[in-house]
Amino acid sequence: MKVLIVGGVAGGASAACRLRRLSEDAQIVLFEKGKYISYANCGLPYYIGGTIKDKDRLLVTKPETLRSRFNIDVRVENEVVSINRDKKTVTVVNHADGSRYEESYDKLILSPGGNPKRPKLPGIDLPGIFTLRTVPDTFRIDEYIKEHGSKSAVVVGAGFIGVEMAENLKERGLDVTIVEFLPQAVSNLDPEMAAILHRHLRENGIRLMFGTGVKGFEQKERLCVRLSDENELPADLVILSIGVAPDSSLVKDAGLPLGIRDSIRVDDTFQTGDPDIYAVGDAIDVKQFITGEETLLALAGPANRQGRAAGENVLGKRIQKDEGVIGSAILKVFGLTAASTGLNEKQLKEKKLPYLKTYVHPSDHATYYPNSTQLSMKLLFAPDGKIYGAQAVGAAGSDKRIDVIATAIRLGGTVYDLEKLELCYAPPYSSAKDPVNMLGFTAANMLRGDVKPFYAEDTDGLDRSKVTLLDVRTPEETATGMLDGAVNIPVDELRSRLSELPKDKPVYAYCAVGLRGYVASRILTQHGFDVYNLSGGMKTWRDVH
Ligand code: FAD
Repeated sequence: MKVLIVGGVAGGASAACRLRRLSEDAQIVLFEKGKYISYANCGLPYYIGGTIKDKDRLLVTKPETLRSRFNIDVRVENEVVSINRDKKTVTVVNHADGSRYEESYDKLILSPGGNPKRPKLPGIDLPGIFTLRTVPDTFRIDEYIKEHGSKSAVVVGAGFIGVEMAENLKERGLDVTIVEFLPQAVSNLDPEMAAILHRHLRENGIRLMFGTGVKGFEQKERLCVRLSDENELPADLVILSIGVAPDSSLVKDAGLPLGIRDSIRVDDTFQTGDPDIYAVGDAIDVKQFITGEETLLALAGPANRQGRAAGENVLGKRIQKDEGVIGSAILKVFGLTAASTGLNEKQLKEKKLPYLKTYVHPSDHATYYPNSTQLSMKLLFAPDGKIYGAQAVGAAGSDKRIDVIATAIRLGGTVYDLEKLELCYAPPYSSAKDPVNMLGFTAANMLRGDVKPFYAEDTDGLDRSKVTLLDVRTPEETATGMLDGAVNIPVDELRSRLSELPKDKPVYAYCAVGLRGYVASRILTQHGFDVYNLSGGMKTWRDVH
């Protein structure tokens, strides 16, 4: 069997290697239009920031290795320009010598990735405006900064790549402004979780401009970014990171069906509309694991796994069926890590799925062991307990907690499963009740009716004449400010001061992070009060406000 693979990075290289491991007989040709294969896209920002110093470290595998170890015919600087389905050939242009040739296939696997969006704005082609996708893009940015002694940068778009670039340009000593059309950065997080990152970015000297679009660019004495609010922002360097469009040009020209937003449509075996052509990676549409809806997900893990499955499926012996993507992602932002999995609250609202949520702010490990730090976590779940998604931001430990919850989602888990999970514990690593268990406890308490939550966004609308807003923190804590109209009874004095609370009004209790508010609500509920507890306490309230 002769298999041609288009694209030599995440999906393509994975497909080629898996195929070879399963079949010594297959003839495998890997086409890559660029100079490099199997490079570390995800590491590129860190080369610009100087964390990765050696260019070679960006190349995960070299063509020689794929040739010698896997007997793969690797052809770099060879671009597949068309698929001729009737003849079962592709037309290839060799950019090294300008030649053009046809290559036949039995099966074809496409992993062409996506193209960074570069809208046709006035001045878009001026020098100093870059996108980042490939190794040569990285070297171009690096050399431009060196040559021009760039001191300031505007990063357009506050998604993962934008925020990583902002951090790395700052680490390199540039003055950085992020311009973002949306009201928040990193849109897979909900706004109150992203707010923690916004504060941290500002504390680290990044200027943030939200709700602001870019109208164009102009070369005056310096390069200027023209903003939607009619202001101008001078910059020595502009990074455009406003998203990636799936590259479906080959299948479009070949008359194969397209998926959402011009992606390549595939079935659950990664087969396109042609049984001999498969596609994987950023270019394809995928099924959202929880909702079953079509979606796009430009991440390396899914691309690698899809490539691995397609490499097996073309052989036709065992078929790896795709079950969809959850959407687990992680981002370093200076000293913080933000991780998320599954659906966020914005998506649940949009899809009109009934949901509940809980916030906790536990320590990443036992507080009596040095250097513990506080995590902020949010769990979204269905009324029957099924987990929809989770988000975590903190200096340490967000990654493993979100990975555990992603695993639970993948296995169809509920909040009751999170309660029962038996996770590793010793003081330097966690607490005997791991933060994931804490999310399970608080969520299950809500579902069992042991606690009724209220949320930070509800506080403004509470009619103070009809409810008692009860702050159960200590006077030392309340000295820094209480919610408007609140009364203070510290939780440890509550049992002896019950008579101070009117029984004919619901009590809305709150504390610093929600734990003492919960204890107070249990005391009051058992004394006949109608009680609600502020989920996430004042910590979440401040993130929301
Ligand atoms: P790619 O890896 O982009 O490979 C496609 C290749 O196909 C390209 O090299 C292209 O030149 C080649 N090609 C296209 N058309 C042709 C043709 N006609 N002929 C020959 N060759 C062709 N994901 C994460 O999960 N975590 C991260 O931290 C992360 N960070 C990232 C940081 C940056 C700066 C970038 C750019 C991406 C990052 N990603 C990250 C995304 C991740 O890299 C992609 O999801 C993944 O590489 C997609 O794999 P792919 O095989 O679909 O496409």
